[in-house]
Amino acid sequence: MKKVALGSTGIVVSPLIFGTLPLGPLQAGLSAQEGGRLIRHALESGVQLIDTAELYGTYPHIRHALEGYRGDALIATKTHAADGATARAHVERALRELGRECLDIVHIHGARLQNPFVDRSEVLETLLEMKTEGKIAHVGLSTHYISAVRMAGDHPDIEVIHPLINRNGMGILDGTAGQMAEAIDAAACAGKGIYAMKALAGGNLIESARESFAYVLSLAGVHGLAVGMLSEQEIDANIGLFSEGGAPDTDWAALESRRRRLKIMDQFCKGCGACVPACTNHALHIVDGKVALDEAECILCGYCAAACPDFIIRVV
Ligand code: SF4
Ligand code: SF4
Repeated sequence: MKKVALGSTGIVVSPLIFGTLPLGPLQAGLSAQEGGRLIRHALESGVQLIDTAELYGTYPHIRHALEGYRGDALIATKTHAADGATARAHVERALRELGRECLDIVHIHGARLQNPFVDRSEVLETLLEMKTEGKIAHVGLSTHYISAVRMAGDHPDIEVIHPLINRNGMGILDGTAGQMAEAIDAAACAGKGIYAMKALAGGNLIESARESFAYVLSLAGVHGLAVGMLSEQEIDANIGLFSEGGAPDTDWAALESRRRRLKIMDQFCKGCGACVPACTNHALHIVDGKVALDEAECILCGYCAAACPDFIIRVV
């Protein structure tokens, strides 16, 4: 696979980045062995950057994938901490559970924060401290906001941005796909490394996966794209697509006919409402004492699953 420079970071990786969210307990719930085998397959096929987060619960999967692996493998994780002490604990835990002395990228997990540099100023300060301690190589921001991409593009301490973009603009919280694309281009021109997320809007664009990936990869300033992958067939097809040769139409026909959905075991829902504010797409409501889903607004991100104390929501 070709290699791309991630902005001015000095990192050079393949543009296909392994997004681990779907492997973990918020979605498919694969074991560390099953998930690790898939990550290892991708690494051995040329993928180099693995994207995870404190929230995803996939450090055991990554650790398993890396056992005995001698090739290049970079790790980007995220902390959703609201204060410095918790951010430090998240980074220390990632280092310990991943068996690393330094994490390549740590993002402020700011998906739904409109003003991450105000709301997470203490977290940024802590991540920068840990960078001087040699525990983090690069600090980044993951976000669903165009305004936050613009702020990060101008921020001297942010080196990598992980923005949400897809051709329908699903999940962008303050504008259109075109406006997000402009903000991404401006940030890349300022030297930021950009790898995008949610090119398929959490599975909503699966039927047009090839065109949807091509849209994001064609955008000026996008260096790479994190993709969640749940089978060797899917990994091989994506590697083919991100490389020169493409992949067989028959493989893609099978992949593009898959359907994903949010499964809510509503017979167990007690209507506590804890999942409702976790969804900034406003796709969840309490109706007659139970949670109800507006499927048209759902991007299958799985954040509501993390908020449910009874583990009754899952992306399947
Ligand atoms: S309902 Fe859940 S999975 Fe769907 S967009 Fe909202 S938080 Fe994400
Ligand atoms: S958090 Fe869980 S139990 Fe509470 S309303 Fe949502 S789905 Fe139901």
